[in-house]
Formats: sequence, C-alpha cells, structure tokens
Amino acid sequence: MMFDLQQQIRPNIRRLEPYSSARDEFKGTGRIMLDANESPFDTGYNRYPDPFQQELKDRVAELFNTDPGHLFLGNGSDEAIDLLIRIFCEPYNEGILICPPTYGMYQVAADVHGSFVRKVLLTSNFKVQVEPLLESLKGIKLIFLCSPNNPTGNDMDPEDVEAILERSDGVVVIDEAYGDFAGRASYIEWLDRYPNLVVLRTLSKAWGLAGIRLGVAAASRELISVMNKVKPPYNVGRPVAEVALKALDDEEAHDKRVARTLQERARMEKGLQEHGLVEKVHPSDANFLLVRFKDAKKVYEELREKGIVVRDRSGLPHCEGCLRITIGTPEENRVLLKALEAMITERT
Ligand SMILES: *Cc1c(COP(=O)(O)O)cnc(C)c1O
Repeated sequence: MMFDLQQQIRPNIRRLEPYSSARDEFKGTGRIMLDANESPFDTGYNRYPDPFQQELKDRVAELFNTDPGHLFLGNGSDEAIDLLIRIFCEPYNEGILICPPTYGMYQVAADVHGSFVRKVLLTSNFKVQVEPLLESLKGIKLIFLCSPNNPTGNDMDPEDVEAILERSDGVVVIDEAYGDFAGRASYIEWLDRYPNLVVLRTLSKAWGLAGIRLGVAAASRELISVMNKVKPPYNVGRPVAEVALKALDDEEAHDKRVARTLQERARMEKGLQEHGLVEKVHPSDANFLLVRFKDAKKVYEELREKGIVVRDRSGLPHCEGCLRITIGTPEENRVLLKALEAMITERT
C-alpha cells in the first residue's frame, strides 16, 4: 500500500486558502481587543473561543495517550464524518464504502454531499467480508468501519481491520463511539503505523455528554491540518470545552459508569436470553443489545404503550425481528424485563 494524502484529497481542498480569523492573525491577549467585532461588554462569553481548543485538546490527548497534533475536535463525531467526506470525495464520481447494517450517518452525510455509497454487507453473524470489500474499492475514497458496530453491538476482528488498513489505498475510518465499552485499547495506538487511519471517538456515550456535542477524530498530523483548514473557524463553543474539561477531570466517574453498564449488560443479556419471547440476544461489546424477538413489532408497540421506548431495527439487513435496547440504569432495566414478563402472562 502506498498512501499519498495529497493525492487523495480533492483538488479544490488542496488549493483551499482557509478563512483567516481575528484569532488566527493575532494570538494571545492584548490589553484592549478591538479586532474581532465582539461585544466589549462582559457577559462571560462575549469573546470568541479558541479556534483550535488547545487546552481541551491537550487534555484529550493525554486521555488517549497521543499528541494534540493528532487530534481534531468537533461538534460531535458527526462533524468529523461530514468533514472527511467533503475533504476526500468528489461529488458524483467518488464515494464511501460502508458495511450495513451500520450507523446511518455515513450514508446521510454522503447523500447530502452527493457522493455515492457502496455497500458490502456484513455476514449474518456480523463479520466484515474482507475480500469482497477489498475488491470493491474502485472510486472509493473512504471506508467506514464501525467497531463496536451500531446496531449489531459486536467489535470487529483486529485482523480484519489490519488487512483492510494494509491493503486499501484510501482512508479507513474506524468509528469507536462505543470503544469505551469494548475492553480493548483504542486503534489510536495504530496511528504511527498507518497514515491512512482515522479513529473517531465521542463524549456522547460513555462520558455521558451527548448534550454538549463533542466528537474527536484522531489521524496523521497532515490530515488533521487539512481538517483544521476546512472546519468552521469556531466549531467548538466555550461552554462545551468547559463542561468537557470538567468531565475529563473525573476519569474515575467514567470508569464507574462503564463498569456499571457492563455489569447491567451481562444481567440483561441473561435475563433476555431466558425470556420466552426472545429468539436471540446478539453478543455485545457496546452499551446496548440487539435482540431478536418472535414478534418484534408487537413487542415494540406493547413496550411503547407502557412508556418504554426501544429502537426497532427490524428493517435493516440481517436484523429481521430485532430491537435495539440501550442498557439503562438498574431500575430501568428491571422495569423493562418486568414489562416483557407481563407480556407472556397476558398472552397465556
Ligand atoms: C452515537 C454514535 C456516534 C456519536 O455521534 P456524536 O455526533 O459524537 O454524538 C458516532 N458513531 C456511532 C456509530 C454512534 O452510534
């Protein structure tokens, strides 16, 4: 594999002169700041935030044991997904490859941009079809691998990820939104080996901060500098950075949340497996379970009537009859199991 980033990015992006903000042209603080048309009156937030979120990036870099130069921070991982597609894919002529059933945003972001989406389905036990994938790369600029995968819950085999990284000359994006629950090191560790690797992480799941919108992309310095050039200048607000910094200071609380979720996941897996309406509980490395029911639509409706909302995934390939159930608090999980029990009693 010969990876040449400059050859891969779109010519208009290669040529792009980035917007130069007031904070790009004057760094640091003067005594009187009259260069950014901000309000001079103190509201707590009258000044623009740091365009490159240096303080937060330093902290995130520590967390992932990498260098801040390898990181991009954005408005959720969704911003990074959108940016990557815009950086690499010529509309109409070039596209992305995904392995359904998987996260829906890859397709939507490609559709908005007008690039095509090639699909190489996972096998029925949710493994990547490595050889068919590698034979389908004509015109493909980005391969999206989601691991652990949403909605199936399973982590990919590292040998498969490695084969795809080694043998494709496009960029491989590994979405680790659920990486905290997988009990393995992040693929961020592989950045030095693979210049074509991008790893996505988020504070939306295990960090419990879906509401602030903070996503992380880790990649080569060269690609990060391209992402910085293309992103909106002030894409992460100061309140977001402040809340994130505070949360990241308490890694212990994060670890506790993860441990409790894993404990509950094991309990739910067992409880559901033993349940009369359940045909199969797919093994999960994430904070949810994909569960095949005898009559999924009916179970979905009956749960909803009881105020319990799960996700109907039965329309996706290989997911016939499947509901995706997020692991809740112990109390929420108990209520769910009880509601399912009641359905059996009501039926007999
Ligand atoms: C939830 C989720 C995300 C998170 O996206 P954010 O924009 O960071 O909230 C990313 N990828 C997958 C596969 C997800 O399920």
